Amino acid sequence: MEQNHVKVLLIEDNPVQARLIQSLLAEASGPGIELETLDRLRTGLERVGRGGIDLVLLDLILPDGQGLETFLRFRAEAPDTPVVVLTGLDDLRIATKAVEGGAQDYLVKGQVSGAVLTRSIRYALQRAQARSGEWASPMFRLAQQQFLKAAQIMGLDDNLRQRLLFPQRSMVVSFPFRRDGYEHVETVFGYRVQHVLSMGPTKGGIRYHPEVDLGEVSALAMWMTWKCSLMHLPYGGAKGGVRIDPTWLSRQELQRLTRRFTSEIFTMIGPDKDIPAPDMGTDEQVMAWLMDTYSQQVGYGVPTVVTGKPVVLGGSLGRKEATGRGLVYMVEEAARHIGLGLPGSTAVVQGFGNVGSNAARFLTEDGVKLIAVSDASTGIYNSDGLSVDSLHAHLAQNRFLEGYPDGDAITNEELLELRCDILAPCALQNQITAENAARVDCRILAEGANGPTTLEADEILAEKGILILPDILANAGGVTVSYFEWVQGLQNLMWTLDEINDRLRAILSEAFQRTLARAERDNLDMRTAALIEGIDRVAQAKLKRGLFP
Ligand code: NAD
Repeated sequence: MEQNHVKVLLIEDNPVQARLIQSLLAEASGPGIELETLDRLRTGLERVGRGGIDLVLLDLILPDGQGLETFLRFRAEAPDTPVVVLTGLDDLRIATKAVEGGAQDYLVKGQVSGAVLTRSIRYALQRAQARSGEWASPMFRLAQQQFLKAAQIMGLDDNLRQRLLFPQRSMVVSFPFRRDGYEHVETVFGYRVQHVLSMGPTKGGIRYHPEVDLGEVSALAMWMTWKCSLMHLPYGGAKGGVRIDPTWLSRQELQRLTRRFTSEIFTMIGPDKDIPAPDMGTDEQVMAWLMDTYSQQVGYGVPTVVTGKPVVLGGSLGRKEATGRGLVYMVEEAARHIGLGLPGSTAVVQGFGNVGSNAARFLTEDGVKLIAVSDASTGIYNSDGLSVDSLHAHLAQNRFLEGYPDGDAITNEELLELRCDILAPCALQNQITAENAARVDCRILAEGANGPTTLEADEILAEKGILILPDILANAGGVTVSYFEWVQGLQNLMWTLDEINDRLRAILSEAFQRTLARAERDNLDMRTAALIEGIDRVAQAKLKRGLFP
């Protein structure tokens, strides 16, 4: 693509429509758009194959291609070419599917002005460029696809869509820290991303994991925005991370890494700016070092710069276990809704870290039989039920579940396909996909992890009648008690554990009922209903604040 010159291929067999598009583009001001038109999918693909096409406007009903299949064939043969789909009002559902499948946008024939057409082309090119450049990541793609699906169903304004599709602020740092051998220095990448700054300070965890990148952190920041909004918390979403495997590091190395990372992102964070919390690979201790480093730099103690810190430093009772506890509160709501009695029912939990181990504990306290758990090393299965205390005792000695004696070793893949009433993925993203969704055999899927299920899998699970508690609902207990911690810190209050759990249950139950009511009223799946609840509030807030300047 040359600067200010875009070459668009229109694949459309209706000459009236083709002339209309041509004249709309000719009228519109802005960067020059050169249009070429072909009337068959085959010749269109051949033309794209010869190169020089920046974007394709694709009619889905062609003599040699019908409906979604037209798009899928195009995508299979020309995966890197951005596509805007042209659709009739009757085929909106198919067009939405094309967007879920990777089309940049769709336009409804008969409702397109010159300005709408050129803006759609411009935004589509920007999105394609960003996705293949700095934000290239399957997880960010998933977050964007979920958002676009919800935005289309709710008819979100185009400019708001484009704005919310990317984070508002992102910081990428590269920094060194010393290994225990003093001479040995390691340089790593770190990120802090703030998705929306319109709702108050931003809030989101810090993740230490070897696969962290800008796209992953941006996806997590976007989900935080919807989660906070869905819970009516006064925050926009943020997230941070360092690309490193913390299990390789000694405690001293982890401390040096954390302190240096904190000073690198110092200008972005603060108690009324952006408040980190633990996520995968980080914990209370990491938050304590972060708080101490920040406090050293400003010259006085600032406990409210982080949440999820130790209680002795101003952390909240109940924060550590809040995500797992909240997940179980949600499971209780969902079980009531589908008429599942929890005592005697069965659960499988993937991941036995903060979220997974606490979810497992509270499920068993509800009388649920825990038949399998896993961590990065292995899965453990026992049809008679596993003891959470005994699993913890093994971990305390061995760091990993591998070698746990009271059950059979299974793989993480096998674990996800076990027959159970409640399946709780509480480890990583991208675990339930088109490949294994058909074999998932549970009644409630409670997403403790962020982004464990792909959009294609969502559909397969829906067909199987599985009730999904989507991540932004199911794991919102963590940020909700983080909010309580922040409020207690700002006001020097100390709430009891009962007060915290009662308030947590009230907020989560209300959000569950609100989401369910929207899903039932608008005939939506729970994920889309939850996303729309979250997005709608952010959109309203943005419109009320207006545009600066
Ligand atoms: P954690 O680091 O405490 O635990 C992660 C667990 O997952 C560990 O048991 C680890 O061994 C396991 N794991 C890693 N790779 C795995 C693999 N390939 N297969 C199976 N298990 C694997 O992390 P956490 O804080 O419990 O976070 C887990 C998930 O929950 C993440 O997606 C995180 O974003 C999400 N989450 C966490 C919180 C929170 O408050 N900590 C809040 C909301 C969402």
